[in-house]
Amino acid sequence: MDKVVIGLRSMTGRPTPKPWINAIHAYVPGKATASDGRPLVKLSANENPLGTSPAALTALEQARGAAADYPDPDSKSLRAKIAEVHGLDPERIVCGTGSDELLNLAAQGFAGIGDEVLFSRFSFSVYDIAARRCGASPIEAPDREFTTCVDALIAAVTESTRVVFLANPNNPTGTWIPGDEVARLHSGLPADVLLVIDEAYGEYLAPEEQSAAFALAAAHENVLVTRTFSKIYGLAAERIGWATGAPELIDTLNRIRGPFNVTASGQRAALAALGDQDFVAASREHNERERRRFAEALAALGNHGLRAVPSEANFLLVLFEGDVSAVAARDALANTGYAVRHLPGQGLPQALRITIGRSDDMTRVIATLRELCGETA
Ligand SMILES: *Cc1c(COP(=O)(O)O)cnc(C)c1O
Repeated sequence: MDKVVIGLRSMTGRPTPKPWINAIHAYVPGKATASDGRPLVKLSANENPLGTSPAALTALEQARGAAADYPDPDSKSLRAKIAEVHGLDPERIVCGTGSDELLNLAAQGFAGIGDEVLFSRFSFSVYDIAARRCGASPIEAPDREFTTCVDALIAAVTESTRVVFLANPNNPTGTWIPGDEVARLHSGLPADVLLVIDEAYGEYLAPEEQSAAFALAAAHENVLVTRTFSKIYGLAAERIGWATGAPELIDTLNRIRGPFNVTASGQRAALAALGDQDFVAASREHNERERRRFAEALAALGNHGLRAVPSEANFLLVLFEGDVSAVAARDALANTGYAVRHLPGQGLPQALRITIGRSDDMTRVIATLRELCGETA
């Protein structure tokens, strides 16, 4: 590092960030405007194209005007409702300012300087930030065809490994490993390594696949599962996430979280959203239908080098391996009014992550890509 320190004082004469903080590349959020400032339909941040449950919107309206009082510091009613919906113990649940806060707290609570935080290549960019924030070293294990490789993760464990992050389904690839593979990963880890299973897209899975990670967290002392209201519940603006795990894990996160980390409006909206499972089911069905239609349209462009990575989430990672480049596709989509995610900083310069949008938008996205490939619409 370039900072010279003599005794306890820095020669720069100004506050000096810790070197591990300086090494962080700040999170790059999905764009909503073209390079010329035009607003675009946002297919770049995996938000719910159907919006938010009407019940949650009503709860938000009712929360207006009650802004002077602090929220419930323990999100008690919300935790009770989460427990009821998922068959969990409310004492084994903690809520956070988005699941982002909880992922950071999991790293901070169990890893620090000299420790390693392990995750798969091409997984959620927050894991690298969460590791560095607490001075730990982020370690990437190789993937297998853009999918988490359990054997590679287990092989990358060292004496210094303290936390393993698994995004399942994964972002930005959309790939998913089944419950028995997650269990195999868990049984390959030392008992003092914390496995954090990030299920931000868990509600997009078939219902019978949704509870395997909860069962693992209920049975073991070193498994934490995180969920969010930002994706299928359509409440990203309110910043609400939650985690479940052994009481000792929840206790650790409770010690270091913000005391009033979930807003009063967020607690009310999330509570109401949990009560509207019809909206969740409709969102899942819309996503599955449109994702399949998009994947089929991309398969028909395979002779032009376009290829979609198999996805269980609300987006597709599209690889451009022929004459049409990802940058050309990104620009063509921006011209027709769509913002998508190009991730060269994550080692994916030849790919775009495209959120599954409304039906009419997906029709236009498909037409734009077909035209770019020289196929008549
Ligand atoms: C979107 C996302 C989250 C959720 O972040 P919030 O802070 O809850 O909005 C967490 N993990 C992954 C992998 C995501 O893609």
